Amino acid sequence: MENSKNILVVGAGLAGISVATQLIKAGVQVTLIDNDKNFSSRVAAGMINPIVFRRMTKSWRVDEFIPFLKSFYRELEAETQSEFFFPIPIRRLFSSEQERGFWLKKEQREEFEPYMEKVTESDLNFSQAKNPFGSGRLKETYYVDVNSFITNTKSWISSKSRLIKEQFDYNQLTRTNYKGTKYDEIVFCLGYLNKSCPFFGELPLDQTKGQTLTIKSETLPENTSLNRKCFMLPKGNKTFKIGSTYEWNDPTTHTTIESRTELLKNLAYVIDEEVEVIHQEAGIRPTTRDRRPLIGTHNKHAHYHIFNGLGAKGYMLAPLISKEFVDYLLNGVNLDPEVDINRYYRRNNQ
Ligand SMILES: Cc1cc2nc3c(=O)[nH]c(=O)nc-3n(C[C@H](O)[C@H](O)[C@H](O)COP(=O)(O)OP(=O)(O)OC[C@H]3O[C@@H](n4cnc5c(N)ncnc54)[C@H](O)[C@@H]3O)c2cc1C
Repeated sequence: MENSKNILVVGAGLAGISVATQLIKAGVQVTLIDNDKNFSSRVAAGMINPIVFRRMTKSWRVDEFIPFLKSFYRELEAETQSEFFFPIPIRRLFSSEQERGFWLKKEQREEFEPYMEKVTESDLNFSQAKNPFGSGRLKETYYVDVNSFITNTKSWISSKSRLIKEQFDYNQLTRTNYKGTKYDEIVFCLGYLNKSCPFFGELPLDQTKGQTLTIKSETLPENTSLNRKCFMLPKGNKTFKIGSTYEWNDPTTHTTIESRTELLKNLAYVIDEEVEVIHQEAGIRPTTRDRRPLIGTHNKHAHYHIFNGLGAKGYMLAPLISKEFVDYLLNGVNLDPEVDINRYYRRNNQ
């Protein structure tokens, strides 16, 4: 498929990579600019979990997201001749009798059948971790090896289009001309750094810091990701990524002793072992109050667009939302009103 448009994408985290990939697939000439200071997409665990445990509800639009993301990541694996998308069983260790009751009710309902296994005797007696209230297993759970995904997809993008490593300089932008090249459209995918964008910086994007630990454990199971108070993602050779914290008042990417202590305290709900901490990382999620992405076109500059606000579940949302955004950009298909930044412009104009 060929398309004569020439589009500039700024930011090559999950958001920019997904948009650039969909544009390339649509035959567009893409230039992707990134300063290589990725703060979220490379820190993420990359887990895809269809259930929100806190309320034991299905995640937003999950019935659409899961089938789409499976094809998206698998097709990209084939294109890039690399591996980064893996199934991983997730076992929820119930936090109370009440939570077990919620699960047992939900597992009877048809709409939860694709995502919840029926609890068995062996789930109630699961013995590889502390399990006072029993446990339940999810279906349709995956993880993206984020480093392999980003490295391989960026190199595929650079083989098909243009990838430039630099800080985007707003002073060099005049209308749609950047450093002497004219673009048809410009898409800003800046993650939490959106605040510094003169066009979209006023939109209400929060910076939600998250920290993870990589630990070595002799007792955690390596064939399943346990979840209670935190997730434990097996990474091979008895190492596990555990996380994440949610910190709303610290927009720095430094790791802290407080978060390390919090994560180890959470882990103690699951195992008694004194684990070895190998590594600690911090990143910042671009989040919104209504937990919906921030996508759309500037209300004065018709060729400036934003694709941001992927929040805590970016690896689940990005494949389909980026496809919908590209259909909007190239073919005028309406955006889902829940993600459209018009929800803020309208409010401000009232
Ligand atoms: C601790 C933690 C754990 C997480 N775990 C999960 C998980 O298990 N599953 C899941 O689905 N999601 C998870 N997430 C969320 C996920 O990481 C985010 O939704 C996603 O990475 C956001 O991607 P982004 O591209 O918007 O932002 P970013 O990854 O921050 O990318 C933005 C890019 O733009 C670049 N940039 C910004 N300004 C400029 C400029 N002026 N010039 C050039 N380049 C610029 C930045 O350097 C960066 O590379 C987690 C996040 C954190 C922090």
